[in-house]
Amino acid sequence: MSVLDQSLLRRDIQSLAHFITALESDSPAAQATLKKSWKRRRPALRIGVTGPAGSGKSTLLDKLIAWYRGKKKTVAVIAIDPSSPATGGAFLGDRIRMQRHARDKGVYIRSMANRAAVGGIAPALDCVLGTLEIFGFDVILIETIGAGQSDTALRPLCSPLLVLAPPDSVDIVQAMKSGLMEIADILVISKADLPGADHAAKTFQQCLTLRGAQQRHVVCVSALKNSGIEELTSKIAEQARNTGTGYPLYSFPKYGDTVHPEIQDGSLHHVAIAVHRIKDHLPLYAKTLGMEHEGTFTLREYSVRIAALKLPNARIELIEPAGPRSTLTKFLAKRGEGLHHVAFQVADLPRRVTDLKRSGLKWINEQPRPGLHGSGICFLHPSSAKGILLEFVE
Ligand code: ZN
Repeated sequence: MSVLDQSLLRRDIQSLAHFITALESDSPAAQATLKKSWKRRRPALRIGVTGPAGSGKSTLLDKLIAWYRGKKKTVAVIAIDPSSPATGGAFLGDRIRMQRHARDKGVYIRSMANRAAVGGIAPALDCVLGTLEIFGFDVILIETIGAGQSDTALRPLCSPLLVLAPPDSVDIVQAMKSGLMEIADILVISKADLPGADHAAKTFQQCLTLRGAQQRHVVCVSALKNSGIEELTSKIAEQARNTGTGYPLYSFPKYGDTVHPEIQDGSLHHVAIAVHRIKDHLPLYAKTLGMEHEGTFTLREYSVRIAALKLPNARIELIEPAGPRSTLTKFLAKRGEGLHHVAFQVADLPRRVTDLKRSGLKWINEQPRPGLHGSGICFLHPSSAKGILLEFVE
């Protein structure tokens, strides 16, 4: 057994840093160890935290660490640094505040250089998150700098994603345009002790409601007044519950997965097959056909349970009703078991919605809804596709 195997088996925190370094340098031995230990992974509450510089991220992280430690949860923090490959190492910068937790054995803080090219995030991030889950951390906080692209790449790796906005610098229209708001599950107005915070919160809530995004929350937090953390953590828990199992679906990670998370625009994403009971169908796909069963997940919002089966560049989803009010119940009664919908991957969902609308097609929802896939999904009305339901995933 290699040294890496042993350190992972013993959950030896001392060796965790070495193991992560090995993953970051794309070591085949570390990958092999990760794969062997994958079954022992216990999904953590993965919270993404992003926002522009000066929005109070390090203060918020500090408060969140303290809160979860107070609940006896172990916490890992991954800070993604925008350092270029040229400057190499990661930089802890203004994260000194968090360092007061560094001596706490229940807290692990690590920064990772974002060596990815434009449009991605630290290439080993997905593997590192899995490793932390094998180590048994209850909560993982992932911090990015709030520069658009890397945040979109972070989206499928965490749930929920918090986006921070300080009230003093908020140009609301600008913020809404930046695209950061689109990917936020929870918008956090930090430094809520400053004048204008309530107004900013209200305006954001109105904008979100106008856009049909009622499922998103706006929470005001003030480190100075020590307020808002209870509300925020309860919204985090709620959001994690609403995404089904509380963590997003993803398959066994490989180095570089996160560099180009957006697959080719227009490629097949998944085919969904409606069934009465997943367990009657799963053996055919998972055993006889030998597809990898990534897991079975509940999407409460739609009252649907989904068994995801991996294909090289797409997947099959077996979907069954997860309650009497499920829309699937109606579908099954009317049309029986069989093809439910076909989903395509797109790079820019709002643009695709507008383009197809211009071509005269009708949408069931023009505003992206949260899906199993971490980001937004829109359904084209079956009347626009001769009875076939088409889904678009960003
Ligand atoms: Zn689907």
